[in-house]
Amino acid sequence: MTNINFESLFKKYQKISRFNEPLAKYTSFKLGGPADVFITPQTIVELSEIYQLCLKESLPVYFLGGGTNLLVKDEGVKGVVVSITFDRLVVKAEAVLVESGYSLNNLIIFLIKAGLGGLESLAGVPGSVGGAVMMNAGGHHGTIGEFVESVIALDKNGKLKPVEKDQINFGYRATEIKDSVCIVKMILRLKKTDPVVLKEKFQEILKAKGQSQPLGGKNAGCVFKNPLDQSAGALIDQAGLKGLTVGGAKVSEQHANFIINTGSATAQDVLSLMEQIKKTVAEQFKVELEPEIKIW
Ligand SMILES: Cc1cc2nc3c(=O)[nH]c(=O)nc-3n(C[C@H](O)[C@H](O)[C@H](O)COP(=O)(O)OP(=O)(O)OC[C@H]3O[C@@H](n4cnc5c(N)ncnc54)[C@H](O)[C@@H]3O)c2cc1C
Repeated sequence: MTNINFESLFKKYQKISRFNEPLAKYTSFKLGGPADVFITPQTIVELSEIYQLCLKESLPVYFLGGGTNLLVKDEGVKGVVVSITFDRLVVKAEAVLVESGYSLNNLIIFLIKAGLGGLESLAGVPGSVGGAVMMNAGGHHGTIGEFVESVIALDKNGKLKPVEKDQINFGYRATEIKDSVCIVKMILRLKKTDPVVLKEKFQEILKAKGQSQPLGGKNAGCVFKNPLDQSAGALIDQAGLKGLTVGGAKVSEQHANFIINTGSATAQDVLSLMEQIKKTVAEQFKVELEPEIKIW
């Protein structure tokens, strides 16, 4: 990938491309270095074309949703970050066809008003719908995978293909769609429900989260996955690590599985803090914590 003239390679897409673009502003951690190329396809067809160009040139490609589950290293990303922002929405009875760039939070609010129940259980989860499906986002109250009927994905050759639910493997904060690299749009199947009931449940979950999580700050949600039958946050708390700080990165006092960028953190501060947490938890409890956040 040495000596590539990205500006000339992406000339056709100059209106939607940025070069050496700092990624910090696109992530909820507000951290990380630049991407060689940052490109925002306006249509699904354009996305497919761009991906095929990257394949032809053997360029690494990273798909970005809302950047709320992401730590970008300080040295940035070699290759092409494709920002998924297209966000059309069509409702047919209890089915919703939605493009990946739609804000999850806006979708939840829309569905509550429309009296379509299911996703209110994801109250307080930021980011895009595509990112949520890729991460099988959720929590105690349910996960988004339960409501996915099918998706249209970009396959490894850059072609669009429909994938039915039975071919999708929804795991714990992970989704596998065979031979696919990007979720482009999806059909969600919801349940007609009284909007008043949905709104109450939404507000209840949001209130509980507001009390236990630092929802407004610069963070990426839970940093580590919960080990089987255990809570990563409880282990970190019991290890006495709340408030532990490396540079500008700090273990949240409110929720021990959140790392906060207090304003001046580097991505390396967060990574070093994660290492310290992992080491201490392994020493004290013989448990290996695995990151939930994606590290680019
Ligand atoms: C305050 C806060 C609270 C949170 N609470 C929760 C919670 O309760 N439950 C929970 O599960 N998560 C939670 N999160 C984490 C995060 O919001 C979710 O994982 C969210 O669904 C990620 O969506 P995103 O669009 O921001 O994805 P991004 O961070 O942009 O990307 C995450 C991963 O998905 C991939 N990706 C994104 N879009 C696509 C696409 N269209 N096709 C293919 N791959 C794609 C990226 O390449 C990356 O690997 C929280 C985060 C914050 C900051």
